[in-house]
Amino acid sequence: MSLDDFRREPLLFGPSPVHPLPRLSEELGGEVEIWAKREDGNSGIAFGGNKVRKLEYLVADAIDTGCDTLVSIGGIQSNHTRQVTGVARKLGLGAVTVQEGWVDYNDLAYDKVGNIQLTRIMGGDVRIDPAGFDIGIRDSWQRALESVREAGGTPYPIPAGGSDHPLGGLGFANWAREVAQQEAELDTFFDTVIVCTVTGSSHAGMIAGFALEDRDDRRVLGIDASATLEKTVDQVTRIARNTADAIGVDRPLRDDEITVVPGYEGPAYGIPDRTTVEAIHLGARTEGMLTDPVYEGKSLAGLIGMVRSGEIPAGSRVLYCHLGGQPALSAYAGYPGLGSPERELSH
Ligand SMILES: *Cc1c(COP(=O)(O)O)cnc(C)c1O
Repeated sequence: MSLDDFRREPLLFGPSPVHPLPRLSEELGGEVEIWAKREDGNSGIAFGGNKVRKLEYLVADAIDTGCDTLVSIGGIQSNHTRQVTGVARKLGLGAVTVQEGWVDYNDLAYDKVGNIQLTRIMGGDVRIDPAGFDIGIRDSWQRALESVREAGGTPYPIPAGGSDHPLGGLGFANWAREVAQQEAELDTFFDTVIVCTVTGSSHAGMIAGFALEDRDDRRVLGIDASATLEKTVDQVTRIARNTADAIGVDRPLRDDEITVVPGYEGPAYGIPDRTTVEAIHLGARTEGMLTDPVYEGKSLAGLIGMVRSGEIPAGSRVLYCHLGGQPALSAYAGYPGLGSPERELSH
């Protein structure tokens, strides 16, 4: 089997853009060359993002198996359910999304603006559920699937983040192949790839995709934003191995190919801290590159922290994978430094 044996429904503009971040590089000492690859600008569907890329493979399967309704799950401010709903609309399918209280955060309009607003505008069937954060399989999700069947529809189940699914890693295995092509065009090589990891298939897909290259001079560093490290490491490992098998990697993955970096997750999933907000400010103020407090602010904090500490050494060439997520920013307008005065920041 190879990646090309899986049908892909084209949902992206094409290869996502790759560009240098010279002012951020300079701000961090000028010894590490930092570039970004922009999944936040990868599609015209619902602002795009990493889930649209994964869904290229999942919705091809949904269509080919005769399903008419995408059913998925996430938090109230889920980027994933926004993208599932947008992709469903684009393809003329129904969308039911269970949205749970994953984040213990109360902002004035948290349950009205940002991702959930966009999902509602697209006519998504949003079902609010009070359950807390968990990247696993939930009862509320089973009930949503059942309700579609009872109404005479054929649901296509998509787990949280599109991850724990046989096709979940393929989108970012394809991303890895895209990077190699762009490197050839740019006549460069990124020795370090930084990516945010929570439900795990973005990171895992890359690991599997890069394993096909069979070279050991590229590190993929997943920056944990789940704050449930063990579960995320397990899920990344499992998905990376399954995806590697699916795309024809003919050797076992090495332990050093699966690296999840803790320390930048903040107090909990969905809650930023001072380091997250500083990273959001630094990216925004040096490059006009916006990141969110749930995911990319934390992975950007990881990049900044590891360059400053020397864990990413001088002379490195880093590719920061920007997975999207900016629509959540407005839901955090009450957070110090993200719309409210910075002096109120307590942690
Ligand atoms: C879902 C998401 C992530 C995490 O990706 P996983 O594949 O779930 O690990 C990171 N950033 C953004 C913006 C996301 O929406």
